[in-house]
Amino acid sequence: MDPRTQFCPNKGCPARGKVGKNNIVIHSRKEARYKCQICGKTFAGTIGTPYYRLRYSMEVVTQVVTLIAYGCPVQAIVVAFQLDERTIRAWQESSGQHCQQVHQHLVQQPRELGHVQADEIRVKAQGKVLWMAMAIMVQTRLWLGGVVSEHRNQSLIIELIQIVRACALARPMLFCVDGLRSYVKAIQLVFRTPLPTGKRGRPRLISWPAIHIGQVIKRYENKRVVDVTHRMVQGSLETALSLIAGSKGGSKLNTAFIERINATFRSRLASLARRSRALLRNPETLTPLMFLMGSVYNFCSYHKSLRLPGIVGGHKWIPRTPAIAAGLTDHIWTVKELLLFRVPPPAWVPLKHRGQRSQVEATLIARWCS
Ligand SMILES: [Zn+2]
Repeated sequence: MDPRTQFCPNKGCPARGKVGKNNIVIHSRKEARYKCQICGKTFAGTIGTPYYRLRYSMEVVTQVVTLIAYGCPVQAIVVAFQLDERTIRAWQESSGQHCQQVHQHLVQQPRELGHVQADEIRVKAQGKVLWMAMAIMVQTRLWLGGVVSEHRNQSLIIELIQIVRACALARPMLFCVDGLRSYVKAIQLVFRTPLPTGKRGRPRLISWPAIHIGQVIKRYENKRVVDVTHRMVQGSLETALSLIAGSKGGSKLNTAFIERINATFRSRLASLARRSRALLRNPETLTPLMFLMGSVYNFCSYHKSLRLPGIVGGHKWIPRTPAIAAGLTDHIWTVKELLLFRVPPPAWVPLKHRGQRSQVEATLIARWCS
């Protein structure tokens, strides 16, 4: 137990969400509880994580969640661990929602994306078809997120592009997508910034410059690719090629990287879709599952193409996860570490009121609102 890495979860506490301010002490080692010395409240080390208030040991939950993330058939887990299917479903859901929060907190932050690829896959589930649209940053292989819908339509693509927008800095950028026309419209719609004019009313939205869109259109015959067309729909091919080269993403317009990760997701989802009665019935259960798989991919698995040659010591290669390559962390995470990551609440804001602030309040603001 390390109180220096913990923060107070109490919503009414001025110190909420702050790490390393020496306000947290160990309350009980036996019960794994901490205490905040500012508000005097105690809290469990697992609060805000999928382990909170579970009857099972952390090890069992971690093993089950890991197996789900890699697409192990649920029936196999039921038999091997002697667990009820509903218990597994509950863990899948809570850990997936947790991963979604971690993803939003760590991955959906502005960064220079360079080259992005997006694509949709068709997931067969319980007598219906669901669509999963996802995007990847090619240079770091970072999975940027995804959206699940019953329809492959404009709103699915807009939602996906909004996720990419949340991850992007206003820098030159290339999208490589398939022939779906929704992408072009969605990218033009989402990548706009209000231009402040100083006047009243809604400011004019201006499109981001230097957004390049390339399409890779494949024509199939009997499930075989017979023809591939590459074309630029927006921007210049020259810049697009330099962005592709900068991201080590091949030598021409392609969607190979998103197709690779799609194949991984599809194979892992297949066993879950086929074998279980209720695990994959609607978009609401698929979304957390997708974030669980995406986060395990980003944080907990080395990617061979991301490794760097070692220059000292006995290591020939330094392996990296997409999260390491993107500078989000300095080491590979275990699934337990991912599930134990607590997303801090937004910083405390003092209540507004008339008159002068009291001495106590002023001290609190000075200490916690800087
Ligand atoms: Zn507190």
